[in-house]
Parts: sequence; C-alpha cells; structure tokens
Amino acid sequence: MKRLLVLGAGTAGTMIVNKLRRRLAATDWHITVVDRDDVHPYQPGYLFLPFGTYKPEQVSRSRHAFLPDGVDFVIGEVDRVDGAADLVTLTDGRTLAYDYLVIASGTSPRPDQTPGMLGSEWRRSIFDFFTFDGAQALASALKEFDHGRLVVHITDMPIKCPVAPLEFTFLADSWLRKRGIRDRVELVYVTPLPGAFTKPIASAHLGSMLDERKIHVESDFLVEHIDNEKKMLVSFDEREVPFDLLVTIPLNMGADFVARSGLGNELNYIPVDRHTLQSKQFANIFAVGDSSDIPTSKAGSVAHFSVEIFVDNFLQLIQGRPMTGAFDGHANCFIESGDHKGLLIDFNYDTEPLPGAYPLPLVGPMGLLKETRANHLGKLAFRWIYWNVLLPGRWMPLPAHMSMIGKKNPNRTENLIT
Ligand SMILES: Cc1cc2nc3c(=O)[nH]c(=O)nc-3n(C[C@H](O)[C@H](O)[C@H](O)COP(=O)(O)OP(=O)(O)OC[C@H]3O[C@@H](n4cnc5c(N)ncnc54)[C@H](O)[C@@H]3O)c2cc1C
Repeated sequence: MKRLLVLGAGTAGTMIVNKLRRRLAATDWHITVVDRDDVHPYQPGYLFLPFGTYKPEQVSRSRHAFLPDGVDFVIGEVDRVDGAADLVTLTDGRTLAYDYLVIASGTSPRPDQTPGMLGSEWRRSIFDFFTFDGAQALASALKEFDHGRLVVHITDMPIKCPVAPLEFTFLADSWLRKRGIRDRVELVYVTPLPGAFTKPIASAHLGSMLDERKIHVESDFLVEHIDNEKKMLVSFDEREVPFDLLVTIPLNMGADFVARSGLGNELNYIPVDRHTLQSKQFANIFAVGDSSDIPTSKAGSVAHFSVEIFVDNFLQLIQGRPMTGAFDGHANCFIESGDHKGLLIDFNYDTEPLPGAYPLPLVGPMGLLKETRANHLGKLAFRWIYWNVLLPGRWMPLPAHMSMIGKKNPNRTENLIT
C-alpha cells in the first residue's frame, strides 16, 4: 500500500485529497490529511466581517464535512518533516510515514515579527483582519470610530491576497460615506511598494482609484517599529505615520515547522519548481498553495489552478512517467471597490493584469480592471462556489492556464480579443 500524506486541510489540501481520492484506487493508496483543528475558514469572508456584510457563522464550516470517505483526517500540530526518512512528526509525538508528501500548510500573519505591533495598543487601536479574531475585533472598533486618521498598512510582501488591503480601504471609504462621516476621517494607505499594486498597469489603475477617493498613499514605507505611546508607524528611513485606528497586515510567513525541517527560505516558503511545484530538495515532496515560493500571488485561485496541474502530474509521476503539466502562475482575483462594485484581475507569471473582458471577449460578463456590478456579484457568489464546487474538487468551467482571450494590452497596438 502506497501512502500519500497531505499537511494542511485548507483550500489546497482539501481540493487535493478530494480529487486524488477519486483517481487513486483505495486498494493501492492510503491517503491521510493533517490539520490542527476541525474548523475550515472561508478566509476571503474575513474582508466583510468588519463591515457586518458577513456574519461569523457564514465564514467557517467543519473540515470533516469536506473530506471524502477513504481519507484519514488526523487532527494534530505538525512539528517537523524528516525528508530523508520520509517521516512527519506531530507535536504530541505521533509519527506519520509517507511515500509522497504534499505540504499545503499555507501562510499566516505574524504580528510578533514587527517590534511594537503586539504592544499595548494591539486590539485597542491596532487591528488586523487576516484572522477571524482580528476581523471580529475590528468590527467592534469600527462601530465606535467616527473621526480621525484611519491608516491601512501592509508590513511587507508577499502577503496572501495582495489586493485585500486595497479592498478594505475602498470598502472603508464607502462605509464611512454611507455613515455620513467620511469628511471627518483622513484615510491613509501605507505600502512597502512604490504604488498601489505590484504590477504597473494595475498599479496605475488602482492608484487613480485611491486618488479619486481622496485616499493618501504613503509608498515605499518599510515599517521598523510601531510606537504605541505616540500611536505612530515608524519606518526604517525614519518617516512617521500617526494613526487613530491602524488596520495592519502583519508580515506573512509560512509555517514554523517548515523552518524546523530545513525545508524553507527566510520566510519559511518552500523552494519548488514553479511549473510542477516539486520540492527542489526532495523529489517525493510537493508544496501546493501559499506554502511554496512560486512568484505569483498567494491566493485561493492560484491554489485551485495549480491543484489541477499538480493532480495530473502526480498521476503521471506515480506511473513512472515524466510530468508534462506546467503551471503558469495563473491568478484570478476580484477586487471589491465599494458601492456594490468591484474589479477583476487575471494574470500569470508572464502577463500582468490587463484591461478587457472575462471569460468571454467583449461580453464578459466580468470586466477586467474595470469597476462593475457583475464583478461585485461574482465576488459574493464565490463563497457558494468555494464551499460547493472548489473544496469538494468538482469541475469548474475555468481553464487552469491563463488565456489572453478578451485581454487588451494598452502598450500594444493590436487588441487580443480573439
Ligand atoms: C482576508 C483575506 C481575504 C482573501 N481573499 C481572497 C480572495 O478574494 N480570493 C482568493 O483567491 N484568495 C483570497 N485569500 C487567500 C486565500 O484564502 C488563501 O490564499 C488560500 O486559502 C490558500 O490556501 P492554502 O491551502 O495554501 O492555505 P490555507 O487555506 O491557509 O490552509 C493551510 C492549512 O494548514 C494548516 N496548518 C498550518 N500549519 C500547520 C501545522 N503546523 N500543523 C497542522 N496544520 C497546520 C492550517 O491550519 C490551515 O488549515 C484571502 C485571504 C485572506 C486572509
């Protein structure tokens, strides 16, 4: 009996065991997945909790409910992987041997990595929304907030869902307007990037949306510490950004067990081949989802598209054949922009987000880099799709590889619409 072990029953791990259980004979393959608890969060929903759009019970379900028969679910904390011995140890001393290992342990916010972030103002005037508790605490703080400086801040890249801080800022602007107090609030967006986003065309577009909303952007800002007494972000180049309410995205890091196992880079991300997701150290280890170092967004959509490629490759590998699938870094993210509108971006390793229509040329119905109501409805519909189609590993009518169909490159003379 061969053993496939998956670490992490989040977005990527759950899709993988669902898809592979159907395709690997139960008589030949034992599949086990490990996670620390039985609560599967819908993380994109955390964006909406502070504004009361979603209720807490709408953003989590039992992990068990999404794991198929024939998959062992082990609840426990991974302590380390011994890649040479093909063995995983849990913190309670249990061991799990494997023939193939998939690390799908994601990435987490680490407020402990910035001096002062967890100081006396944490959860008083300093909040995050990348965790359930943080988003809930922020919801209470926002209810009380009626004037002053609201600062949205990214500590460093990469972070999961790199557009989430922008979305929060747009939603805050709209929410303050609806409450009639926008003119009493100074809204500031503080980023380590030179502009609003990582890629130039989207950055220019999103930057002008911030300008239109009178949101001040403090760019190239690398926080050195947070002064809790003065309520101020202080950068390495000694710039100071005061706040009344700080909504920060702490440094994101891969799991600590990755570092303890000698498998990670300086942020605990696992170096892999960017097309096959195979570890550069061990041929029987793969890192899928946010846990790897691939140079694309850390996002559920990336987990989804890359799982499609990984599953086909894995079936080839275990039959002794070369892996022929090549993941292209495809990412597809809705960006809420407030007032029941949103944008969509679609890109990969080689192509930055471009304007146009998606998935069909001209008709869409989604607009790329364009604020539409259809995009907002798409974002809201995504929660249902996540629970009912993506996690169970059902077929989605979206190709894993990015397509140029419908995209228009403003820097080129011809439009790529066919
Ligand atoms: C606020 C917010 C908004 C987002 N919005 C979007 C969006 O609109 N679109 C989009 O595509 N993506 C979005 N994302 C990102 C998306 O949720 C993640 O990229 C996706 O969940 C990554 O999947 P994953 O399987 O790699 O990691 P996860 O789903 O995070 O799963 C990792 C799992 O590993 C487990 N684990 C980690 N360490 C251990 C250990 N030591 N022992 C046992 N178990 C362990 C964790 O408990 C977790 O269940 C958003 C994220 C946030 C926070």
